[in-house]
Amino acid sequence: MINEEIAHIFSSIADILELKNDNPFRIRAYRKAALVVTDLAEDADKMIEAGRLSGVPGIGKDLHAKIEEYVHTGKIATFEELKKEFPQGVLDILYIPGVGPKTAKLLYETYGINSIEKLEDYANSGKIKGIKGIKEKTVANILKGIALKKSIQGRFPLGTALPIGETIIGELKSVKGVSTIELAGSIRRRKETVGDIDILVTSDDPGPLMDRFVNMKEIERVLSHGSTRSSALLRDTHIQVDVRVVEKDSFGAAMAYFTGSKSHNIKLREIAIKTGCKLNEYGVFNVKNNKKIAGATEQDVYRALGLQWVPPEIREDQGEIELALDHRLPELIIDKDIRGDVHMHTVYSDGDRTAEQMAQHAQGLGYEYIAITDHSQSLGVAGGLDPERLKVQIREIDGLNQKLKRIKILKGMEVDILSDGSLDMDPGLLDRLDIVIGSVHSGFKQPKEKITMRMVKAMETGLVDVIGHPSGRLIGERDAYEVDWDAVFKSAQNMHVAMEINAYPLRLDLTDAMIKKARTYGLKFVITTDSHDPNQMRYMSYGVSVARRGWLGKDDVVNTKRYKDILTWLKGDR
Ligand SMILES: [Zn+2]
Ligand SMILES: [Zn+2]
Repeated sequence: MINEEIAHIFSSIADILELKNDNPFRIRAYRKAALVVTDLAEDADKMIEAGRLSGVPGIGKDLHAKIEEYVHTGKIATFEELKKEFPQGVLDILYIPGVGPKTAKLLYETYGINSIEKLEDYANSGKIKGIKGIKEKTVANILKGIALKKSIQGRFPLGTALPIGETIIGELKSVKGVSTIELAGSIRRRKETVGDIDILVTSDDPGPLMDRFVNMKEIERVLSHGSTRSSALLRDTHIQVDVRVVEKDSFGAAMAYFTGSKSHNIKLREIAIKTGCKLNEYGVFNVKNNKKIAGATEQDVYRALGLQWVPPEIREDQGEIELALDHRLPELIIDKDIRGDVHMHTVYSDGDRTAEQMAQHAQGLGYEYIAITDHSQSLGVAGGLDPERLKVQIREIDGLNQKLKRIKILKGMEVDILSDGSLDMDPGLLDRLDIVIGSVHSGFKQPKEKITMRMVKAMETGLVDVIGHPSGRLIGERDAYEVDWDAVFKSAQNMHVAMEINAYPLRLDLTDAMIKKARTYGLKFVITTDSHDPNQMRYMSYGVSVARRGWLGKDDVVNTKRYKDILTWLKGDR
């Protein structure tokens, strides 16, 4: 969790520097470092101790020293100083999508707007319309941004909450007396945002467990400290964590109860009543004699009700209960089904490592293949490839495929779908590649018809195999652009184009609901991490979770195929 803390400070420093109009290179270095630290596979303090943090790309000497300072003192002096210059409310305003540092600063310095509430009030009452440098459109964007922020308020992206939950479990597991400890709640269902972290435990001696929990260094404030239940707020994120100790013979019933969803559980209770039983967090009971029939495991609970056990990701009362009663639940994809990660970047565009380094890391994860898919040239900020550099990369990968024995590299590109729907690369060169991902990276605010036309036109070239991060949304930061999905999916169906499920925690794009819709068109999917650094490849399981929430099985996902078979599929034999 120390990595998240440091990353949070680095991005806050970048925010304040932006408000101060500081050197853009310095700002970018902090932003980049925040991402690098978030993605580290190991805790920064352990890496410093072992001397492994120096040499990590993106962490220069100065930043290394700051991380060391945090590890040793729990603070970074530069940040403590900078924090004094602007109230927290101004920084909150900066985080609103659609408000840049210039606007935030202007509003604060001219009108003393120092909180989101105040800003909303000003925007709604038309008071900021007349301000020089603020257009009418900006006001609309500000209000939209505030609404977007509010829509996830009090909820946290799965990518923030899950690692924290796993860290806490990792620490509490070792406490004497603990036998079983698991995450419940929406985090277990892998919802894309979660409200809090629920943990259930069985223990012969709950006292020490509760003590250990409320004294964890990650905790900022203890809300309650009981003998079998405690809750607390975490540092920085202020996520609430609840730890409950339950009896062993009720653990399964409690897991079902606290995992939800609410509507799923209501249906379960109705089924229990129909069969002369009662279901609650302690177990399944026979109503006549109040005898307990099941409760120790979830499997027992579902079985006692005449149901197949339902995977947590699909407990949403969307038809899963009816299928479970018939014992006809689909077999959902699992992490191990994935044979390769087919969207990633290298130093040829905005990635951190070479194709060979990415391949070696992927080999360590047990993959059969990867695809290197760097950006095309119109994405200037990412240093996208022009045709000449793409040719060089193609040769390099051919060479690597001769050299590397245990993993194959597919030649690919994430090509921009330009604002007129054309592709940002010579068709002849795209044709030479194994996999082409077409992505929209610009013109997000175009009208619905226009964006739809771009995507359809791109697919109709017959050169695109996959549509990358199809909706373009970033959780809590950017809404999906507007698209006529029926038209896009219909075209994808005709052209045999797969939809990407981008596993990068802020994206999770397509969403579970969109996956279900795409599937009604018979579409196939690829689950990818869009890694810009080897450490990001571990996010694959987030994509698999979304796929499971979208009811996908192994056969729906193209990169579960063996190397030879995915090549055949990509070559057009679909
Ligand atoms: Zn992209
Ligand atoms: Zn990408």
